[in-house]
Amino acid sequence: MRYGIISDIHGNLEALGAVLEEIQKHKIDQLICLGDIVGYGANPNECIELVRQNCQVVLAGNHDYAALKKVDTSNFNNYAQDAIGWTIGNLKPESNAFLETLKVFHKVDQVYFVHSTPMDPTEWNYILSTFDAYQSFQEFQEQICFIGHSHVPIIFMNRQRHRYDILEKKELHIDQKNRYIINVGSVGQPRDLDSRAAYGIFDDELRTFTLYRVEYDIEKTQAKMRAAGLPEFLIVRLQLGK
Ligand code: ZN
Repeated sequence: MRYGIISDIHGNLEALGAVLEEIQKHKIDQLICLGDIVGYGANPNECIELVRQNCQVVLAGNHDYAALKKVDTSNFNNYAQDAIGWTIGNLKPESNAFLETLKVFHKVDQVYFVHSTPMDPTEWNYILSTFDAYQSFQEFQEQICFIGHSHVPIIFMNRQRHRYDILEKKELHIDQKNRYIINVGSVGQPRDLDSRAAYGIFDDELRTFTLYRVEYDIEKTQAKMRAAGLPEFLIVRLQLGK
């Protein structure tokens, strides 16, 4: 089975469209979305509709929960709070209804999928350091855990407690002796100083994972955000990739 894995779209329709177009080339069997379809960007309804049509498994992220008022957003920064307020005011009832159906994790064979962490997925903690990863490895039984949430693609491998960045288009060979936590990065708001949309391809027969990046029309996304009155900080960061 070949999986496409996407995360953190954040209402960025141009980025999502570019990823969906390119991902067709990989002849995937299933597309899995790890959450945060909305928040920050100007097209939450359109992104929800595309995800609904194209993804076989869709998980909720903290911004999706915030849009449903299921989480306290007092720990969100001002820009994120403003954007969530805007999103709540602009979501259609059918979009809300779809977000309400989302689970927070998915397991298949030896693979665990979640937005934030396998430990208490709705606490929305981050796995940023080797110590975070070390703790998280105790909290799931499967060989591989795919995550999003930080918007930074990275792989943690438990055998050597090793952390390394995923190099674009460089295949990771999944060794049966190791366990992995793999962050697939962000479609709609990358924060690893690369402004291109990120997505991953996991092949459970070839035992490979590859991260891809795709250019999209950032200026078009930014123009829509400006027209919507979304915070300038969120608009500028897209071109900086941070
Ligand atoms: Zn996010």
